[in-house]
Amino acid sequence: MKINLNRMMDMLSEVNQITDEGEGVTRPAFSDFEDQAHGWFINKCKAHGLETYQDRFGNSFATIGPGEEKGLLIGSHLDTVNNGGEYDGALGVITALETVITLLENGVELSKPVTVVAFRAEEIGLIGSSVFSDLIDKSGNFAERMAGIGRTPEDVENAIGYKDFTDYLELHIEQGVYLENNALDIGIVNAIASMHQLNVTVFGEAGHAGTIGMRERDDAMMNASKLLVEFEKIVKSYGPPFVGTAGTLEVFPNSSNVIPGKVEFTVEVRGDDMDKLHAILDSFIEYAERDFKTNITKSIDKAPAHMSDGMIDAITAACEATDMKYELMMSGANHDANPLSRRMNAGMIFIPSKDGISHNPREFSSKEDIETGAAVMLEAVKRLLSK
Ligand SMILES: [Zn+2]
Repeated sequence: MKINLNRMMDMLSEVNQITDEGEGVTRPAFSDFEDQAHGWFINKCKAHGLETYQDRFGNSFATIGPGEEKGLLIGSHLDTVNNGGEYDGALGVITALETVITLLENGVELSKPVTVVAFRAEEIGLIGSSVFSDLIDKSGNFAERMAGIGRTPEDVENAIGYKDFTDYLELHIEQGVYLENNALDIGIVNAIASMHQLNVTVFGEAGHAGTIGMRERDDAMMNASKLLVEFEKIVKSYGPPFVGTAGTLEVFPNSSNVIPGKVEFTVEVRGDDMDKLHAILDSFIEYAERDFKTNITKSIDKAPAHMSDGMIDAITAACEATDMKYELMMSGANHDANPLSRRMNAGMIFIPSKDGISHNPREFSSKEDIETGAAVMLEAVKRLLSK
């Protein structure tokens, strides 16, 4: 039993013809283009004899196998960022669909149903998969927020569907360089990084850039620089997979001839261990508060999502059976498997991304790597079905 690479590549190029104009692929969440891609998916599944369904939020499903049992869910998302690539999301949906078509063609007897899913709006905060998993934030002006995307709270209720499934498996491009740099075929995700973010304000004393001597001045920008150098030092001391980023910075009053009186910036850290992430931030805060006038608040504090042992075992066995070089690794990026992992056994298969480029028209994964990924997915699904 083998997947059909040509059919897969054809399906991938068909769905990627659905895009707004401009470079790369543009199928933003809740756009006509996302709608059309879901329409394409439903039609393609019907043509191959799968039973299709779309919930009222717009997530699309296609099933084979016996109806009564709780089933296996495989897939990803079809939306993209603006001017994104051809692989992020779409490849996971196509690989899942090819897996199911291959099972059908080979007359594999199924102990439980297998459903291919295409989630909505992954790129703007895992919206479709969070609705499906009943993990969407319904507080505050929820109805208003839903109206903004053409949905109602009733649509959201209708789309809670996780209870019908025991396992979720997603193939995705790595969007990093770990697999490529280590000559690996497959990454088996053991956790999706947790993320913690601080908003930092560091103070100084605003003043004339020409009249206040270097000894007398208190420059908030220089203070911020010292804090950032220390931040990098602390994160690096923890080694991989921990990463830290200072992605925003605002200087007040932001004038070339005024000594800055205040600087605001954010730092975020990601990794697979909550305690260590908290320790990194605690060291940073301790340093900042010891030597500088600061105001620091936590803005995001998200726990890591752990993939299930059974799923990791199934993918590992699939890699062994297909003779692939693999390693367990953390995902620094967030994925639909995150909310799903809080409701069922979840797992992820990563394939290499050329130069780690993603969310970019130059995003690329080779045909060989795509075939490898699909072969591992098929093997893993067979193992999950025989559990
Ligand atoms: Zn994605």
